[in-house]
Amino acid sequence: MKELARFYSPRVIPSELKPREIDANTEVLITVGASQALNLAATVFLDAGDEALLIEPAFDMYTGVVQLAGATPKYIALKPVNGKLELDMDELSNALSERTKLMFLNSPHNPSGKVFSKEELKKIADILDEKAPSCIVVSDEVYEHIVYDTVHTPFASVSVSAFERTLSVYSAGKTFSATGLKTGWVIGNADLLRDMQLAQQFVVFCSNHLSQIALAEALKFAEQPFKGYNSYFEWLRGEYQKKRDFLVKAIRAAGMEPIVPDGAFYILARVPEGHEMRQKEGVPAQILEYVSTKGLQVDPATYDRSDYNISRNLVLERGVASIPNSAFISVDNVGKVEISNGYIRFAFCHPDEVLSSAAERIKQ
Ligand code: PMP
Repeated sequence: MKELARFYSPRVIPSELKPREIDANTEVLITVGASQALNLAATVFLDAGDEALLIEPAFDMYTGVVQLAGATPKYIALKPVNGKLELDMDELSNALSERTKLMFLNSPHNPSGKVFSKEELKKIADILDEKAPSCIVVSDEVYEHIVYDTVHTPFASVSVSAFERTLSVYSAGKTFSATGLKTGWVIGNADLLRDMQLAQQFVVFCSNHLSQIALAEALKFAEQPFKGYNSYFEWLRGEYQKKRDFLVKAIRAAGMEPIVPDGAFYILARVPEGHEMRQKEGVPAQILEYVSTKGLQVDPATYDRSDYNISRNLVLERGVASIPNSAFISVDNVGKVEISNGYIRFAFCHPDEVLSSAAERIKQ
């Protein structure tokens, strides 16, 4: 926890509060992956009937943890503008009210790879100050180190009030490519974090200490020169950037339109009308056969979704797995928001040989 306090003090403390340091005992909490941090925040801060704001497409856990807490998720959608996704600040302002207890913010963003700029984050902070002064922000920054030609700004760092309302969530799973380690952490000011620390005692008591020691060592190591780069973090960015550029090119060559990500390791791609993978209507016959003979389940609500059927066709005919983007969109908004129709998500956290093989297979 001392290592995390040292590492995050210069990152998340807003300039107005510097040189204040993060307190290792009261402002850091280690969790069982970022997943458990998200769950704990929702159970601790949400009561039945409360409202939580989510920006979609949204990492699917957010809806789940809000509903498990008995609260109601409310959604606003990112919109495609000139090949990028944007948040409409008027829509955000209209969606927030005194009833909004919690807001989930995710930058770099899964599934789109959007990285919110400092200016965007400052606007969000101002809107929160005005419309929902007591709203707590869960800022999911698990992809903090995976950004391309841009910088990651922690939401907590943009103003004093943003710092006071924010729980910043991180994960060794993403930073050290160690998903199975299930080690995450939350940085937040003591007033907010205390309730989570107290609750944690009755959930898992604490996370395993071997992972905590490994994390402290890895953080120190990651700041040292690594494989010709100034640090492990730079190397990580460099490796992923090469994979991103490769897959963006392959997606274009396959006749799909990628939203080029500025961060994380996902690419959303629009599969245009008339594309070979989109022409076939409905659930492929082979899947229907599996359903009837092998007990595979297909959610009937997805039978007619274009993105689900594109993903089904891709996996059956080309052996390439993708995720339909409407899986990240609330049921009521599917078909209504632009990004729920004909977009699929590819992940490029794979060895180069796998990406090369995928590129060959998706070629038209
Ligand atoms: N947040 C986001 C946005 C994620 O994509 C993930 C993992 N897919 C998590 C949180 C969960 O992280 P962890 O593996 O540390 O539980």
